[in-house]
Amino acid sequence: MNYLIKGWVKDSFCDWDSRISSVIFLPGCNMRCEFCHNWELVEKYQDLEDVQWSHIKSYLVENSDFIDGVVISGGEPFLSDFLFDLVKEIKQMNFAIKIDTNGTFPDKLKFLIENSLIDGVAMDVKNEFEPNIYSRTCGVRVDTDMIEKILLSAKILMDSDIDYEFRTTLVRSFHTPENIRRIAEKLKGGKRYVLQQYRKVNVRSNFDGGKPFSKEEMEYFRKQVFEFFDECYIRFYTMEM
Ligand code: SF4
Repeated sequence: MNYLIKGWVKDSFCDWDSRISSVIFLPGCNMRCEFCHNWELVEKYQDLEDVQWSHIKSYLVENSDFIDGVVISGGEPFLSDFLFDLVKEIKQMNFAIKIDTNGTFPDKLKFLIENSLIDGVAMDVKNEFEPNIYSRTCGVRVDTDMIEKILLSAKILMDSDIDYEFRTTLVRSFHTPENIRRIAEKLKGGKRYVLQQYRKVNVRSNFDGGKPFSKEEMEYFRKQVFEFFDECYIRFYTMEM
């Protein structure tokens, strides 16, 4: 079967903690975060070349002793109607699978977990769960129904036994320690919460999210919330601006 795949990182050491993963990027998203590092994949994917699944599959088979997981990222992977077929095919090849999602498709997420089709999830939490604040951060109108869906996805993960993390990219123009504290209060008891440093890398040229938070500032954020989770840490990006 062919799938619409618009990006591929053959080997990654930073997309799934403690695993060497191969990362597949699916196009399109239902959000428009201005700080998105993959905005071309979200808005201009028609201009990007397709990556042939047969090519990826051959590589995975040939390197199965080296690669110990496949990450399906985007965009928002749950928008692709072939996602379940792709996941099943990768599972049949005996690879562990992680999905990156913005949490707006709880029913689909639940289906994959209940059928043991995925082993990990990284779920973006854009900001505290107040519709106006969430909307401003993710660039589309988020109403209370959508907020409920995102919270339901979080609950599905917290009730599951798969490896998961919640993660928030901290952007000076969008986030205060109070916002992060209110996120943590809602996700209290979660397995892992990762605070990611925003860097002005491959974002829209007209977006100015303010100066990236320093290491000390990131650590201050972390101190506000670490007690709510089993693990809470900061993820820095090393690419240059
Ligand atoms: S949800 Fe993720 S992929 Fe979609 S626009 Fe936001 S950062 Fe980009």
